[in-house]
Amino acid sequence: GRMVSQEADVYEEQIETSIRPQSLEDYIGQSKAKENLKIFIEAAKQRNEALDHVLLYGPPGLGKTTLSMIIAHEMGVNIRTTSGPAIERPGDLAAILTALEPGDVLFIDEIHRLPRTVEEVLYPAMEDFCLDIVVGKGETAHSMRIDLPPFTLVGATTRAGYLSPPLRDRFGVILRLQFYEVDELAAIVTRTAAVLNTSIGNEASFEIASRSRGTPRIANRLLRRIRDFAQVVGTGDIQLEVTRQALEQLQVDEKGLDHIDHQLLTSIIHKFNGGPVGLDTIAATIGEERHTIEDVYEPYLLQIGFLQRTPRGRMVTPLVYEHLNIKGV
Ligand code: ADP
Repeated sequence: GRMVSQEADVYEEQIETSIRPQSLEDYIGQSKAKENLKIFIEAAKQRNEALDHVLLYGPPGLGKTTLSMIIAHEMGVNIRTTSGPAIERPGDLAAILTALEPGDVLFIDEIHRLPRTVEEVLYPAMEDFCLDIVVGKGETAHSMRIDLPPFTLVGATTRAGYLSPPLRDRFGVILRLQFYEVDELAAIVTRTAAVLNTSIGNEASFEIASRSRGTPRIANRLLRRIRDFAQVVGTGDIQLEVTRQALEQLQVDEKGLDHIDHQLLTSIIHKFNGGPVGLDTIAATIGEERHTIEDVYEPYLLQIGFLQRTPRGRMVTPLVYEHLNIKGV
């Protein structure tokens, strides 16, 4: 029941924490974002100021949360972590902001989902480090100004376009995280295996990396599932053969596509003649949320040239017919 799943959550969180890189040095890949951040962090530290507000955007699992923690670590400050949907009222945000120490990092995940009323409180907080709070009701209502300690807001979102322009404009640093290269993901897999005390061969690391859709979270997840296989059906050592067997069991194909990717692509081919077809129609057909498709599945399929966005909807490319071994039209 409940207890078991809570314990499982705690265990999950411990593993999550242990495999997260702690410093910029251990953060693999994203060299452009890293180089920039290094300079901004150094400059802020020299001036003894809080780092300017940072917006991180990119598909889920690319390392936005991790990077926010690293920023706090490198700045030598504390981090408070929350998310857009968790801050329901202006008062919730005020409580968080007034509890910060000078220089602290406030991380807001899914910042595009902040309620509008909360967002408006955030503007003066970001710009002038103050809160304008309305106290009282009706005729006695008046606004009160509260000074805040200087802080760094790190916001994360899957797409910069989801943010309202006034919010976006208040970030001094805007960094886009990219899908990772295979060699970078292989390095992440090797590093995670070492943290988990698991032995893994080089070829196996690369196999996992090449099937992880450019995404560290997927690479780490596959590694842990393959580790289970290696432990139960093998000797515990992760080599190429057991890796391939496990990936087949997990229904992850050579390109790292899973059954939902397959469903998405084959339904466009079989039901809509390869497209173009609107996203809402695709969503209804395969029974997934439009946003999940847009944020989780589509970016990688676009990246590898399997999907194309046209004004009339999504289209599959000839690469898909080849990959799925389906005769074209
Ligand atoms: P996001 O916030 O973008 O959804 P996370 O920061 O939660 O992604 O990262 C997902 C997982 O990938 C975490 O387990 C994290 O440890 C790992 N990870 C992300 N980026 C890197 C990186 N550059 N190097 C090593 N591990 C990474």
